[in-house]
Amino acid sequence: MSRRPLEILRTVFGYDSFRGQQAEIIDHVVAGGDALVLMPTGGGKSLCYQIPALARDGVGIVVSPLIALMQDQVEALRQLGVRAAALNSTLAYEESREVLRQMRAGAIDLVYVAPERLLGNGLMDQLDRCRIALFAIDEAHCVSQWGHDFRPDYLQLSVLHDRYPQVPRIALTATADGPTRKDIVERLKLDDPSRDSRIFVAGFDRPNIRYRVATKRNTKAQLLSFLEEHEGEAGIVYCMSRGKVDEIARWLVEQGRAALPYHAGLDKTVRAAHQERFLKEEGLVMVATIAFGMGIDKPNVRFVAHLDLPKSLEAYYQETGRAGRDGLPAEAWMVYGLEDVAKLHQLLESSEAPDAQKRIERRKIDALLGYCETVRCRRQVLLDYFGDRCDPCGNCDTCLEPVESFDATVEAQMALSAVYRTGQRFGAAHLIDVLMGADTEKIRSFGHDKLSVYGIGKAVGRDRWRSILRQLVAHGLLVVDMAGHGGLHLGEDCRAILRGERRIELRRDPARGSRGPAPRDRAHLVDPADEQLFQALRQRRLELAREQGVPPYVIFHDATLIEIARDKPRDLRSLSRLPGVGRAKLERYGPAMLEVVASR
Ligand code: ADP
Ligand code: ZN
Repeated sequence: MSRRPLEILRTVFGYDSFRGQQAEIIDHVVAGGDALVLMPTGGGKSLCYQIPALARDGVGIVVSPLIALMQDQVEALRQLGVRAAALNSTLAYEESREVLRQMRAGAIDLVYVAPERLLGNGLMDQLDRCRIALFAIDEAHCVSQWGHDFRPDYLQLSVLHDRYPQVPRIALTATADGPTRKDIVERLKLDDPSRDSRIFVAGFDRPNIRYRVATKRNTKAQLLSFLEEHEGEAGIVYCMSRGKVDEIARWLVEQGRAALPYHAGLDKTVRAAHQERFLKEEGLVMVATIAFGMGIDKPNVRFVAHLDLPKSLEAYYQETGRAGRDGLPAEAWMVYGLEDVAKLHQLLESSEAPDAQKRIERRKIDALLGYCETVRCRRQVLLDYFGDRCDPCGNCDTCLEPVESFDATVEAQMALSAVYRTGQRFGAAHLIDVLMGADTEKIRSFGHDKLSVYGIGKAVGRDRWRSILRQLVAHGLLVVDMAGHGGLHLGEDCRAILRGERRIELRRDPARGSRGPAPRDRAHLVDPADEQLFQALRQRRLELAREQGVPPYVIFHDATLIEIARDKPRDLRSLSRLPGVGRAKLERYGPAMLEVVASR
C-alpha cells in the first residue's frame, strides 16, 4: 500500500475531507474487501473506487456500459494527473495494444472497459499477466433483469469472482430498490462468505435540488419565465413526444435561447453532436425525450424541467437527479395538467403489458399525481415513496410557500353530482362547462342544460374548478377512465362525500397556477459582487477546454470557479487551498486563473 486515501484525496483531487460514507467504503476496499455501494447521483461514487485503485498496487479495472462517456471520464482523470485509459470498441488495435502493454508494465492506474470488451477476445488472458488493484462495476443495476437498463453482458461478470478470488470488487449504482439490490449481490456473487463483503446504503435525498410543481396554463410562457431564472445556465427540458421536443426547441431558439433537440427519431450523428455540444458548451438547454439521460454526468446541469408528466416517481427521481451533481443549488421544475394523467393512462392501456403489470403501473400513476397535488413537503413525499424520510425541507415550493387549504365539501359534492348526472363518461372540460352553465353545442345536444347541476358552480370559476377536479382525481374520488379519452367516473369513496358524511379539504391554488411559483428566494450560485469575475473565469476555462477539445468541467468544476471568485487568491499557494485544486491542476491551470483574478 503506497499512499493513504486522505493524502490522495487532498493532493490529487484537491478536496479536504471525505463525504458521507466515502472514507468507510474506501478503507474497506483498500483493505481488500468487496462492496456494494448504493448512493444517489452526485453522491460521490467515483472516488470510492478511484482512490482505492490509486492506493493499492496494480491497475484498477472499471467496468462501465457507457462507452460514450468513457473518454470524458478518462480525460477528467488525466487532468488530475492520474494515468488512465479506456479499452473499448472505438479504439484502434494499436492503441489497445499500447494500453495493454502499459498495464502489464504497471504504468497505468485506472482502465475503463466495456463489459463485452472485458469478456471477449482474450482480454482476461492479458489481465492474468497484470497486477490488478480492484474491479469496479459501475452502473451495477445493469445486471438486473428487473431494471430498464439490463445488459446481458453484465450477467457474465460473476466470472471476475471465480477467476480473481483475491481481488476486491466494488459494485456501484444509484438505483437501490430491494429486488435490484438482491439481484446485484447474487448475480455478481458479492455474497461469498469467505470474502469480507459489505453493502453501503447512503440516504436518497438530494438536498441541493429544489422541487417545484405548477399546473399547466400556458406551457410556453411558463417555461420561458422559468428559464429567465436560469439565464446562461445549462439544463434539460423533458417532453413526452418527439414532435413536441422539436417544436419547443425551435421555439426556444426563436426566443433567443440556445437550445437543441434530442430524441430517438434524430439521426445518430445528429444526436451524438448535440450531446457533445451540451457537454462542451456552457448554458445550453437540451430539449429531449427520455432517450437523453443515461450517463449524462455533466456536473453543472442547473435545472431539469418537465413539460409532461414522467412515467412514475421512480422515473421522475432519476430524471431530475441529473441536475446538480456538483452539489450546487439546482432545480427540478414541472408543469402538469389533468390531460397528462389521461395521456399516461391511455399509453398504459394501449400497451401490451399483462394485466398484473398494468395494475402496478396504475398505482404508480396515482403516486405521481399524489406528489403533484400534495400539500406536504415534496421532498417528504418523494423520500417516503422510496422508504426514506426527512423533515420538511425548506427547499421545495410547498415548504417555501405553504399551501392554503379550504373546506371544499360543497364544491366536491357539486362536481361529483355533475359527473354522476352526466353519466360518468365526460371529461373535465365538459363537466366544467356544465357546472359553469355554459351554452355549448355539446351541452344542448345532450340536454345537459336540463340537469339540476347545470350552472350551480358559476360562482366558483373555471380555474378553481380545474384545480378541484384535479385534486378529486388525486384523492381517488374521481377516476380517469382507462380508455384514455379523459372521461371521469366516480371513485369508490365518493358516497360518503355525496351523503354529507365526510368533509374534504383541498388546496387553494392561487395565482401560482398561472404564473408558476414565484422565484422569490432564488438561490444565488454566486455572490452578485463576484458574478463578473466568475464569468471571466468561466470564459478562460472555456478557452482552455477548447484548446484541448475537452468539456470545461474536466478542467475545473463550477464550484471551484465560484470559490476562486469569492476568495480571489493572489498566489498559487492560496489557490491550492481551494476545493477541487489538486497538484496537477494547480500546475497546469493555476497561473491562468491567477491572471484572470489579477486583471480585475
Ligand atoms: P456520482 O458518481 O455518485 O454521481 P461523482 O463521483 O460524479 O458522483 O461526484 C459528484 C461530485 O461530487 C463531483 O463533482 C465530485 O468531484 C464531487 N465530490 C465527490 N466527493 C467529494 C468530496 N469528498 N469532497 C468534495 N467534492 C466531492
Ligand atoms: Zn420541502
